[in-house]
Amino acid sequence: MIEKLKNIVDKAKADIGKAHTREELLQVQQRYLGRKGELPILLHKLSSLPERERPEAGQKANEAKQTLLRAIEEQHALVGEKNEKPAEEIDVTWPGDEMPRGHLHPITQFLRRVKGIFYSMGFEILDGPEVELQKYNFDLLNIPKDHPARDVWDTFFVRGSKEDLVLRTHTSPVQVRAMEKRKPPVRIIVPGRVFRHEATDASHEAEFYQCEGLVVDKGIRVTDLIGTLKMFLQETFEKKVRIRVRPEFYPFVEPGIDIDMSCLLCGGKGCPACKQSGWMEMVGSGMVHPKVLKNMGVDPQVYSGFAFGLGIDRLMMLYYGVDDVRLSYSGDLRFLEQF
Ligand SMILES: [Zn+2]
Repeated sequence: MIEKLKNIVDKAKADIGKAHTREELLQVQQRYLGRKGELPILLHKLSSLPERERPEAGQKANEAKQTLLRAIEEQHALVGEKNEKPAEEIDVTWPGDEMPRGHLHPITQFLRRVKGIFYSMGFEILDGPEVELQKYNFDLLNIPKDHPARDVWDTFFVRGSKEDLVLRTHTSPVQVRAMEKRKPPVRIIVPGRVFRHEATDASHEAEFYQCEGLVVDKGIRVTDLIGTLKMFLQETFEKKVRIRVRPEFYPFVEPGIDIDMSCLLCGGKGCPACKQSGWMEMVGSGMVHPKVLKNMGVDPQVYSGFAFGLGIDRLMMLYYGVDDVRLSYSGDLRFLEQF
């Protein structure tokens, strides 16, 4: 036993002396001292020795272990010194590791673009509460309680609120709020999140972005509305677009107008994206209803105005060529990193 121990120590010392790198040294350490190393295996056999020989053998084995550990430590220091690069060899001009860097969400990027375009046309950019009083979300916009038009907006109601609170279904309530503190002439846009209680699919989300617009002044006409929105679409998509207008009912405007744009993908010939019609529905809008003007404290005999609501998500999808609205809110980096 003692003889075997001595053999192991001699062999190990020789191997340690031959190790020239830290990895090699680590391998030697594993070979002799690791869990299945030669020394532990030998120690395991201690129990088979006659009882009177055990204490001495145990002590020798321990000494052997300490000897080897010391030898490894010494060699380690030696190897380390040799492997370390002298300071003057470090190339300080070598570029460092690049830090991972985030960026803005595609909707935020696109929204900034939209704001910039309206800003350049003289619009003021406003914000409003996402949890809204029904008074602003419905009543003052000419959608009284029990009016069938309320069913158009599948609404999230806030349970247990003392006042009638809802998650705003559109950004239109900010029109009325803005006019409480302003006198015409007024040109505002209100970009922000809105909420609808509806099932989600490739083109519907329960939460999305709208951008409301309102212009009130003397002598504002439908042609001003059409001209402004055509200009906006051309600026957004950086090309000449054709538009067409269709009558549509919205309780807060009279007349109500939907604006379609010639399909960006097929140029009007018809394709799956535009359901073969050649047109894409872009904006809901209209001339502000006289009742709503009155609710804003504006005399409809003197002033007129137009309002519009842009679907930011839809515009963003067209702009970047995204085909599923749910991707925007998935948080999937494979999607987000493309912008
Ligand atoms: Zn098309």
